[in-house]
Amino acid sequence: MNSNLNDRLLHFLAQSPTAFHAAANLRAELDHAGFTELHEDDAWALQPGGRYYVGRNGSALISFILPDSRPGSFHIIAAHSDSPSYKIKPGPALVTEGFVRLNVERYGGPVDSSWFDRPLSFAGRVLLDEGDHLRAQLVWPEEDLLIIPSLAPHLTRHEGAAKPLNVQTDLLPVLCGGGDADAFWKQLAARLGTAPEQILGADLYLCVRESPRIWGPEKEFLSAARLDDLECVYCTFLGFLDADPGNCIAVHCVFDNEEVGSRSRQGADSGFLRDVLQRLCASLRLPEEDYHRLISRSFLVSADNAHAVHPNFSQNSDPINRPKLNQGIVLKHQGSLRYATDALSAAILRKICRDHQIPCQDYTNRSDIPGGSTLGSLSESQIPLLTADIGLGQLAMHSCFETAGARDPEYLVRFSEYYYSEPLPRMEADL
Ligand code: ZN
Repeated sequence: MNSNLNDRLLHFLAQSPTAFHAAANLRAELDHAGFTELHEDDAWALQPGGRYYVGRNGSALISFILPDSRPGSFHIIAAHSDSPSYKIKPGPALVTEGFVRLNVERYGGPVDSSWFDRPLSFAGRVLLDEGDHLRAQLVWPEEDLLIIPSLAPHLTRHEGAAKPLNVQTDLLPVLCGGGDADAFWKQLAARLGTAPEQILGADLYLCVRESPRIWGPEKEFLSAARLDDLECVYCTFLGFLDADPGNCIAVHCVFDNEEVGSRSRQGADSGFLRDVLQRLCASLRLPEEDYHRLISRSFLVSADNAHAVHPNFSQNSDPINRPKLNQGIVLKHQGSLRYATDALSAAILRKICRDHQIPCQDYTNRSDIPGGSTLGSLSESQIPLLTADIGLGQLAMHSCFETAGARDPEYLVRFSEYYYSEPLPRMEADL
């Protein structure tokens, strides 16, 4: 187990309560590593051998390393920056029975029960009126500010079977006592050193207060908020930073809004990646035909965590293709292609893993459970890239505190470094 790597991963997880914070932390590391920031509204003058990144919406990020020579292919990895939570509505406060509660709605599919009875805060970004311009500012009070109290079982015994939770009535967090419906905006403005009327917009989400941790007598488990998908984001990012890409163009993508379908301008189902790759080729003065030739020789790894077999619910996994924690990278397959992996992309992945002694295991849903989807097939519908869906195994996906294996991050870092640094296995026939 690589404790230095895990320390870095835990630090990143601890400092990334929202997609906005995750993207900002990655940008800081790219700046430190000497990457040059590009803006979509500028003209790009890229140099061979250059290292660049471009953001969108403050929550998505594409970074790339150009070869010194004529590029041969794109080696791309994509992961997602967002996680399930509850979003605070514009009219944020409800006054009830001497409490002020926040008015929230689900973002994605959180495990509701996991959010009860634990100290919470909130985080995200706000847009401030600065007179002649608007300013975006990240917000994250690192304090115990909210709790969603559960209901004592004594008060529901007469109701028989448990009712499903209603997010509008059962999951609203308590902010404070009293009757001031403007308490939230006032507290937020005070923290920002501004007046409430200067806040013109806010994307704010609940977040837990627990620190990520490695645990167990053998220190073999890793638990944290937002492992799905920040574990893949950061492990592939570290491999990307250490890559020596030869004549391939190494591309690392972090998309937002996977948990709500990816259909935003910063999501995997947008043209963000296609726009960046096309502009990159144009800036290198490659003819349009070369873009299409490059794409045909390129590969996309979609990296998003996978369900490991659960010791208490093993019957919910496929009888055979059931990944285990700490046993390596998970290759995800599904017949109806909600995972984009096919025989060809699986063979390429397995060959890279085999050549570098990186353990690799297979995941499929039980045939009678539809399961989830991820980024691979969405990106593929925007750009015709050969794609494999992978991830690291974890338990309690979409809980506010998830559990994974502490030995697995190293496998994904090593995989991505090799993937970015070496030519793809050559194909004998035209596939
Ligand atoms: Zn995910």
